Amino acid sequence: MQRHRVAVIGAGFGGLFAIRALRNANVDITLINGTAYHLFQPLLYQVATGVLSEGEIAPPIREVLKGQDNVDVKLGWARQVDTERKVIDVAGPGIDYTVEYDSLIVAAGASQSYFGNDHFNDYAPGMKSIDDALELRAKIFGAFEIADLQTDPEAQERWLTFVVVGAGPTGVEMAGQIAELAHRNLVGQYKHIDPRKARIILIDAVGAVLNTFGDHLSTRALRQLHLMGVEVELNTKVVDVDLTGIEVESERGHQRIPSMTKVWAAGVQAPPLAKQIAESAGAETDRAGRVMVQPDLTVPGHPEIFVLGDMMHLPGDDGRPLPGVAQVAIQGGRYAADVIKRRLRHKDAPAPFKYFDKGSMATISRFSAVASIGKLRLSGFIAWMMWLAVHVVYLVGFKNRFTTVLHWAVSFVGRGRSERVATEQQAFARRAMRDYGDPYRRVREAEEAQMPAETTTGVPTETTTAVPAGKHPAEAEKTKATVGR
Ligand SMILES: Cc1cc2nc3c(=O)[nH]c(=O)nc-3n(C[C@H](O)[C@H](O)[C@H](O)COP(=O)(O)OP(=O)(O)OC[C@H]3O[C@@H](n4cnc5c(N)ncnc54)[C@H](O)[C@@H]3O)c2cc1C
Repeated sequence: MQRHRVAVIGAGFGGLFAIRALRNANVDITLINGTAYHLFQPLLYQVATGVLSEGEIAPPIREVLKGQDNVDVKLGWARQVDTERKVIDVAGPGIDYTVEYDSLIVAAGASQSYFGNDHFNDYAPGMKSIDDALELRAKIFGAFEIADLQTDPEAQERWLTFVVVGAGPTGVEMAGQIAELAHRNLVGQYKHIDPRKARIILIDAVGAVLNTFGDHLSTRALRQLHLMGVEVELNTKVVDVDLTGIEVESERGHQRIPSMTKVWAAGVQAPPLAKQIAESAGAETDRAGRVMVQPDLTVPGHPEIFVLGDMMHLPGDDGRPLPGVAQVAIQGGRYAADVIKRRLRHKDAPAPFKYFDKGSMATISRFSAVASIGKLRLSGFIAWMMWLAVHVVYLVGFKNRFTTVLHWAVSFVGRGRSERVATEQQAFARRAMRDYGDPYRRVREAEEAQMPAETTTGVPTETTTAVPAGKHPAEAEKTKATVGR
C-alpha cells in the first residue's frame, strides 16, 4: 500500500526542520531544493568577508539527511504547483520532472527586493546566496588590490569606498566586518595604500540602525559603528546605482558617492512561486508577495498545503506579520510536521500555530553585539558570546561547527582571514552567465544533435534564455530586481 506522500519545497530552516520532525512518521517525503546544499544564511556575510568558507555554512543536504530513510532528495527549482491535481512541476538541471503529493510543505524563503529598481542589482549585489557572498568577497578583496595599483588619488578613493545599503542586522554586520578588515586585518599588507583610510558608509532610508531592536540597542549599535569608523547616513534614500557610484537623497539634498563596491542589504520579497501557488489555490498575497495563511499555516481551502517561513504572512500577537527570521521558519516546519502526523493518526488538530520569540541578535564587530531577549536588552561582549553560542548550536553538522570556531579564533582573536581566495569568475560570473544563457539547454541541444557538448558550448545564440547563476530559469526575467535576499 502506498504511504502518505509529503512533498517539501525548500531545504532551508523551515523545510529541513519539518523533514526532521517527520523522521519516524509513516510517510514518504520528497524534498525539492534548488541547490544541493542547505544554506545557513545568517553567516553569509562572514563568507563575503573571508572569515568562513562557503562549505562551513552550506552542508550537502544528502549528508544532513543521510540517516533518514523516508526522504528522497531531488535537485531542482519548483516552477509551479497545480493545487487541484496535487502535482509540482520542477525544472531540474537540464531535466524537467513532476512530483505528486498528498501533503505539501512550501518553505522556499524570500528574495532580495530592490523596490522596483531592478537595475541596482547589476552593481549592488544582494546577500541571499553563496553566489552573492562569493561575488561580494571577490569584489571586496579585489577593491583593495586594485586600489593599491591606482596612481590617481580620486580613483584610489573610489576603490576604497564601500557602501552598504540597509541598516538592518545584515547591513550592520556587513559594514562592521568590512570596517574590521580595513582597520585591523589588512593593515600593513599593502605598499601603496593604507587600508585604514577606506571609507565604509552605511545608508538607510529610516532614521535608526537596527530599528526593530528598539531605541536603546539601536543607539548602542550606532555608537559602536561610529567607534569603528563606519559613516552612518540615516534618513537617506538611494535613488540610483551605477558602476562607479551611488546617488542618494536626504535632507541635505542630492548627493553622489563615488564607490566601486556596493552591497544591497535592504528589502525582501517572496519568490514568484508564492504568487503562483496563491493564484492556483485562490489565496491572497501581501505587498511583499507572501502567501496569507490560516492559523494552522495552511492555505485557505487547501488543508493539505502548508506555507511557512519567509514565504508566509501570518499576524503575530501584536497584529503585525511574523518576522522573516529563522525561528519562525523552524517552529513553522515542526508545527506543519505535527499536523500531518496527527492527521495520519486520526488525532485532533493541534492548537493554532503560536510563535515563541526567543529573541534577536546582531553582531557589530568582534566582541560586540546586541541582543534583545524578552525584556532583556544586552550589548557588548556578553551579547557577543551569546550570539556565538546560538550560531554554533544552529549550524548544521559537527565538522562545520568545529572548523567555524577555529576560523572565528583566527579572525577575532588573531588578525587573519582564513578565506581570502577571490577569483575573477566569482566577481564576474553572474553577469557573464546572464549573457551566456541556460548552460543546460546548450548541453541538451548538443546531445540532441549527437555532437560532443564541447564543440557547441561557448557559441552564443540569440534564442537562449538568460539565467543568472544559481537561479531558477523562471526567475531570469526578474533577475535584475529579484536575486536572493
Ligand atoms: C544575510 C542574512 C542574514 C540573516 N540573519 C539572520 C539572523 O541573524 N537571525 C535570524 O533568525 N534570521 C536571519 N536571517 C533570516 C533567516 O535566514 C530566514 O528567516 C530563514 O532562512 C527563513 O527560512 P525559510 O525556510 O523560510 O527559507 P530559507 O532558509 O531561505 O530556505 C529556502 C530554501 O528554498 C530553496 N528554494 C527557493 N525557491 C525554490 C524553488 N522554487 N524550488 C526549490 N527550492 C527553492 C532555496 O534554495 C532554499 O534552500 C538572515 C537572512 C539573510 C539573508
